[in-house]
Amino acid sequence: MRQQRSYSIEAIVLKRTDIGEADRILTLLLQIALGRNLDIVTQAEGRENFLHLRSELWHMTCGFYLVELVDRFVEDSTPHLDIYALLLDALRYLDADANALQQQRAQGTVLAGEQVDEHGPTRLLLRYFELHLLSSIGYEAALQNCAHCASELRPEENGFRASLGGVLCPQCSRFWERRLSLNVLKVLRFLQRSKWIEASYLRLDAKLQAELEAVMHDLLRFHLERDLKSWSFLDMLNPAAS
Ligand SMILES: [Zn+2]
Repeated sequence: MRQQRSYSIEAIVLKRTDIGEADRILTLLLQIALGRNLDIVTQAEGRENFLHLRSELWHMTCGFYLVELVDRFVEDSTPHLDIYALLLDALRYLDADANALQQQRAQGTVLAGEQVDEHGPTRLLLRYFELHLLSSIGYEAALQNCAHCASELRPEENGFRASLGGVLCPQCSRFWERRLSLNVLKVLRFLQRSKWIEASYLRLDAKLQAELEAVMHDLLRFHLERDLKSWSFLDMLNPAAS
C-alpha cells in the first residue's frame, strides 16, 4: 500500500471532469509540482472566484483560452512557478478589466455608438501571455537575430517563419512565410522584455493587433500542430478582429 500523506497547497483549477454522481477529476496547476498523478482532494476553499471575469462573455472566453493554453503546453509534473504567476496575474487583470468596464457602463461613461476599442488591452494581454508562456517552456521566439543565419536584425521589414523559430532577415527571404513589419517586431520585443504592468499601457491600432495575433498564432499552431477552437470563438466575439 502506498503511504498516504496529506498536504495543503494553492492551485489554479484548469479543468474539471465529473465522473458519476459524486466524483470529479480536477486538473490543477499547482505552485509546487508533486510527484504523483492522481492525488485525492479532500477539502477545498475558493480563494478567488473571478466574479467580474465570469460575468463578461469576452473576458470569460479569454480566461478559458489562457487556461486551455496552459493545459496544452504544461504536461509534466515539474514546477512551473513562472507560469503559475503568469496565469494568475492574467486572470486578475481580466477580472479587473471586466470590473472597470461594468462600472463605466453603469456610470454611462461609455456613450452608445462611441468607437472605443474595449477589447484592445485584453487582446494585447493574450499576445503577452502567449509569448511569455512559450518562453517559459523553452520555445522563446527569436526576435534579436535572424532565426536562420543569426545576423543581427535591422530596423526594416523582415520576415517570419514559425518552424524556424522566429524572425528572418531580408537575406533569408527565401524562407519567409510571412512579412513582418518593423512595428510588429518592436511590439514583440517590447512585450518579451516587459512586465505586464508596463506592457498594459501600450495601445495598438487594429492593423497592428491583427498582425501581432497572426504571428503569435503561427507560433502556437506550429508547436501544437493544430489551431485552437478558442481562436474562432474569440474572433466571433471581437468585431475589431475581422
Ligand atoms: Zn538571415
